[in-house]
Amino acid sequence: MNVGVMLRSVLRCLKTNPVAGQRSMSQSSLAGKVAIVTASTDGIGLAAAQALGKRGAHVVVSSRRQANVDKAVALLQSQNIQVTGTTCNVGSGEDREKLVQMTLNQCGGIDILVSNAAVNPFFGNIMDSTEDVWDKILSVNVKSAFLMTKLVVPHMEKRGGGNVVFVSSVAGYQPMQALGPYSVSKTALLGLTRALAPELAQSNIRVNCVAPGIIKTRFSAALWKNEAILDDFKRQLSIKRVGEPEEIGGMIAFLCTQEASYITGETITVSGGMGCRL
Ligand code: NAP
Repeated sequence: MNVGVMLRSVLRCLKTNPVAGQRSMSQSSLAGKVAIVTASTDGIGLAAAQALGKRGAHVVVSSRRQANVDKAVALLQSQNIQVTGTTCNVGSGEDREKLVQMTLNQCGGIDILVSNAAVNPFFGNIMDSTEDVWDKILSVNVKSAFLMTKLVVPHMEKRGGGNVVFVSSVAGYQPMQALGPYSVSKTALLGLTRALAPELAQSNIRVNCVAPGIIKTRFSAALWKNEAILDDFKRQLSIKRVGEPEEIGGMIAFLCTQEASYITGETITVSGGMGCRL
């Protein structure tokens, strides 16, 4: 078939089947959905909120500092995104409950959770890390990701299903030098994704995870601001640059749409081709 004939047959198909175009639009739409994104006033969380909001979701943004929440809400509003904001330190049970309750009061339900918060209070040899370091990292990065999920699942069930997305890291596959405990916490999220997916599939809830490479945010500034470290990372990449938060936000939003309706229990690596897994 030559190109002209092919184009004519595609146009004929679209004319006789206008639903085909609409269907793909509606599959990528999140209109009517309510999305909680933790740690979403900057970096990857903010980009995820933007991507979800641009697809029509009402996004609930939060982080520890009110000033950061106000700034993120103003930015998203200026982009015509439906948004509500509140403070929430994910390490605090009281804050997690407040976040969920506020979402229910203001938005009437919950369809999506993006669990994005993480801390890393330790750089160095793993054998020098203390119990306090492990408690802090596992509590914020892993335990609160599970406890947030546990809080929102009954509300997703009331809506007939939903989506949970965890934010891990390539360090979850290949521990990064000097980031031992943090890397282990990110590996735990791969396991959490796998452990939750079969159980929550029964409630029509998909559970997935995204493993970013080096993304240009404040969190990773120590890596991409240092020329020597950056050059070393670039050698491991197929795409020879640091990633942008929007490149992770888009993947997170995609996983929450109907386009990803058969994907659950997966971790998607978004790393410019870093060789961290087969
Ligand atoms: P970021 O740009 O530094 O943003 C961090 C956000 O988290 C801010 O909004 C901050 O606001 C909030 N936050 C920090 N601690 C919090 C807590 N305990 N509770 C609630 N909010 C909190 O960081 P990022 O790079 O986007 O990192 C986001 C996620 O991506 C993390 O899970 C990180 O491990 C993962 N990741 C990042 C990279 C990378 O290269 N950047 C690579 C792989 C994975 P407040 O200060 O107001 O709380």
